[in-house]
Amino acid sequence: MIDLHCHSHFSDGKFSPEVLLEQALHTGVSVLALTDHDTIEGLLPLHRAAQDQSITIINGIELSTRWKKYDIHILGLNFSLTNTALNALVIQQNESRIARAKAIGSRLTLAGIDDAYEKACQIAGHDRVARPHFAAVLVQEGKVIDIQTAFKRYLKQGKPAYVPTAWISVQEAVEVIVQAGGQAVIAHPFKYDLTRKKLLALINDFKEAGGVGMEVVSGELLRTKANELARLCVDQGLLASTGSDYHGHGYSRVGLGQQQALPAHCTPIWTSWTLNK
Ligand code: MN
Ligand code: MN
Ligand code: MN
Repeated sequence: MIDLHCHSHFSDGKFSPEVLLEQALHTGVSVLALTDHDTIEGLLPLHRAAQDQSITIINGIELSTRWKKYDIHILGLNFSLTNTALNALVIQQNESRIARAKAIGSRLTLAGIDDAYEKACQIAGHDRVARPHFAAVLVQEGKVIDIQTAFKRYLKQGKPAYVPTAWISVQEAVEVIVQAGGQAVIAHPFKYDLTRKKLLALINDFKEAGGVGMEVVSGELLRTKANELARLCVDQGLLASTGSDYHGHGYSRVGLGQQQALPAHCTPIWTSWTLNK
C-alpha cells in the first residue's frame, strides 16, 4: 500500500507525524509521503520516528497556488529538505497565510467581534489560522449557530470577511519543487470545478513549468472518476500519484493508505524512485 498524500497537525490534520506513522505501520503502508499544507515541519519528526521501521518515508508538501481565478493545490514529492529556495518559499507562503488571517480578523472586528484573530489563534493553538478557526470563533461568540452558517454569512467568497490569499503561481510552485530535486503533482484535479478545457489548460501550464504528475486516486474519489483521470494522465504523458488525503479520524472518510488502487494502465510516479529500505 502506498499513500502519497496526508496531513499532520503541523497543518490541518488531527494527528502528529508519530501517530500517523503508527497508523501507517498498522495498516501496512510501505511508502508514505506526508504532504502538509505549505509546511515541511512535520517531515523531520516523521523521519526520526520511522528510522528503524520497515517503511519508506517520502518528503512531501501540498502547496497552495493561484491559477487564473482558481486555488490549485500542487503536491511536491521526493525533494531535498535542505533546499534553500523551497525553505524560502515555505516562509513566504506562511507569511501570506498570516497576513490573510489578520485581514479576516480585522473584517470580523468591524462586524462586531473583538480580537477575532487572537481568538482564532487561541482555538487553533498556533498562528497558522484559517477560515475554519474563524468559523469556530463566530460560533463561540454566538454570532452563528454552526460552522456552515459562519461560512455562508461571513467567510465565503463575496461575504464581508472573505479575503483572498496572495498565493504563489502554479509555475513558481512547480519550479521550486523541481529546483529542490522533487517532482510536482497536480493534487485532486476534480476538486476545482474546472471545465475540461480549463483543466487541459492547467495541465499544459503545469507541464510547461516542469510538472510531471497528477493525482489519479485521491481520498474517496469514485472509481469511474479515477478511471477517467487515469486516461487523462496517460493521454497527457503524466505520472500517476495516489493518496488518501487523510486528515485524521472524524475529518476524513478514507483512512491512511485506504484509498482505492491505482487503475492499472497508468504509470505510477514511484517507478522513477529508488525505494531502498
Ligand atoms: Mn487540508
Ligand atoms: Mn488539497
Ligand atoms: Mn490535502
